[in-house]
Amino acid sequence: MPELPEVEVVRLRLRSVVVNRRIAEIQTARANYAFLTAPARLRSKLQGRRIMEIERQGKYLLFLLDDHSRLLVHLGMTGQLFTSHAVSPRLYNKQSRAGLAHTPAQVFVPDKHTHLSISFSDRGEQLHFRDTRKFGKLLWLAEGRSDPRLERLGVDALSITPEHLGISSKRRRIAIKSLLLDQSVLAGVGNIYADEALYQARLLPQRAAASLRPEETRVLARTVRKVLRRAIRLGGSSIDDYVQPDGSDGQFQNTFTVYGREGEPCHCCRGPIVRVVIGQRSSHFCPSCQK
Ligand SMILES: [Zn+2]
Repeated sequence: MPELPEVEVVRLRLRSVVVNRRIAEIQTARANYAFLTAPARLRSKLQGRRIMEIERQGKYLLFLLDDHSRLLVHLGMTGQLFTSHAVSPRLYNKQSRAGLAHTPAQVFVPDKHTHLSISFSDRGEQLHFRDTRKFGKLLWLAEGRSDPRLERLGVDALSITPEHLGISSKRRRIAIKSLLLDQSVLAGVGNIYADEALYQARLLPQRAAASLRPEETRVLARTVRKVLRRAIRLGGSSIDDYVQPDGSDGQFQNTFTVYGREGEPCHCCRGPIVRVVIGQRSSHFCPSCQK
């Protein structure tokens, strides 16, 4: 699932592609769960608009348009935003990916999972939004309008401070892992980066949030920021569906210390990495190195 680093990488890469371009034509799939704004309405609202900027709030992208309206995009579990120049097996169904490994790379042709395609007046590369599982979201926001999805977001995880994390942890008996995933506390952190940050801060994911000492809170806040910044530098994590807008993979998955490494040796103590379920989410950690 795309988390803050993946969404931020998409934002940074797409800015140079779409900002200042005028939308000439929109193609949409038929109405489905992705469309919080109905396809026909979305087409009429976006038609002719110029994209002025792309912003991010937590895991949400906001395309700012020249009439001060905004297009909100959430990538959900499997959402992909990429240009028509992108080439990647990840842009095809999982079943057909293995067969593609030995054939020459094909230019993407919109399929039934492509919910939105934007063509620009300069006839340059198009922008596609594709999502096989339809947990992604598309929502048009009129000038000055917000949405509860944005309003309930907590502090952006890239700017988390020890003070904020300390206040949020106070008297909270939930596991620190669950607190990190709570988007109303910390916007943008998901399973991968919570596990990686807790390992690097040497904290057990099942520790009660309220049990963290001030020094531990300080280290954790700093580590969350550090892990996210590093993941952004490496283009995010490509595991299943995520690709950068040009179709290339992120590289952070090659540096995982605990996430997805159950049974493999800890890089520090060589003991096996353990996986447990906390708050219905898999958590990966080293029982020796994390306290
Ligand atoms: Zn260890």
